[in-house]
Amino acid sequence: MIIGILKEPAGEKRVSMLPAQLTPLLQLGVEVWVEKGAGILSCVADADYEAMGAKISDRDALIRTSDIIAGFWLKETAELMHAKKGVVFIGVLQPLFNYKQMQAMAEMGCTAFSLDMIPRTTRAQSMDVLSSQANIAGYKAVLKAADLLPHYFPMFMTAAGSIPPAKVLILGAGVAGLQAIATAKRLGAVVEVSDTRPAVKEEVMSLGAKFIEVEGAADASAAGGYAVEQSDEFKQKQRERLAASVAKSDVIIATAQIQGKKAPLLIDEAMLKLMKPGSVVIDLAASTGGNVFGVEQNTITQINGITLYGNSHLAADMPVDASKVYGKNLYNFLQLIVSKEGVIQLNFEDDIVKGCCILHNGAVVHDRILSLINN
Ligand code: NAD
Repeated sequence: MIIGILKEPAGEKRVSMLPAQLTPLLQLGVEVWVEKGAGILSCVADADYEAMGAKISDRDALIRTSDIIAGFWLKETAELMHAKKGVVFIGVLQPLFNYKQMQAMAEMGCTAFSLDMIPRTTRAQSMDVLSSQANIAGYKAVLKAADLLPHYFPMFMTAAGSIPPAKVLILGAGVAGLQAIATAKRLGAVVEVSDTRPAVKEEVMSLGAKFIEVEGAADASAAGGYAVEQSDEFKQKQRERLAASVAKSDVIIATAQIQGKKAPLLIDEAMLKLMKPGSVVIDLAASTGGNVFGVEQNTITQINGITLYGNSHLAADMPVDASKVYGKNLYNFLQLIVSKEGVIQLNFEDDIVKGCCILHNGAVVHDRILSLINN
């Protein structure tokens, strides 16, 4: 059996497996083919893959020959149509947004697993690509903010005067938000945090940040740990509670998301204008609309002297470690679907296999995706 590792589309620096991660896969008796140049932007050469036992292939041959095709983004559906019938794709398909594309992909008779749909359970943690990438994004968001901010983050008392610590407001305390809190605290900032899930209050406080409480959030207990959309009344109350923190913040790191939906707009135009010139906003929710007014994905903009940077894929700016953890997630998932004899064995009784299987043998099989397609 051949597992093919694709080179990512232009602009993406990550690769879905690093050479050091090949050994346990090859021990299963499978062949691993890697597209020529796939690892260059993650600082690994084709020769590094070859030295670990992989075969370097051109893209077309890899797509036509592999039994499993793995990548991060599997976006070039026209090229992927040349894959063998029954091929298994593994990547981040974002099917809740790209459900129309899923139907087109199904027509090629393939099976597709989307690792961003893996259930957020303890057993699935080692395959959870959303967490592994969000952790890096939260860290990098703070470093970007520190770079763009015309102030120090830590407090300094010097002979030339004292510098107060930067004030950082973090919106959303999921995986990215919690890492952003820890990183901002390490840099010496004073941190405040808002989230609609009361369960995160303790985690926020244990990291040394202040939790901004807003009563009356919608119950998210049935949403698999994710947040849900809030009522207009709650949103108004949250905006009122946040206004004072926005006005005094030097930095806002926005990470609030609702799975499969547009991101909630938490800072509108009037609130943004409360911020001082020189302040910085980093919005990790930019690709789904952003939490902050005026933010655009992959763009640095200025409004009233405030710098806004939207980037939902910041983990890609640290491609070596982002690829390392993604590759580990991918390997752990492969262990669920490749037997010890090196053949594909799909067990749909397994909640992880079932939970992230979007297409099987040419049919859309995921309930949520089916209902999006049918409505
Ligand atoms: P996410 O990226 O979907 O959202 C980020 C944060 O934004 C969440 O904490 C969410 O509550 C918050 N948010 C949403 N709407 C908001 C609003 N209007 N105002 C303020 N904050 C808002 O979250 P994530 O990091 O992917 O984590 C999702 C869930 O999965 C969390 O409950 C997390 O603890 C859980 N999780 C579990 C595991 C595991 O057990 N294996 C692993 C990772 C994450």
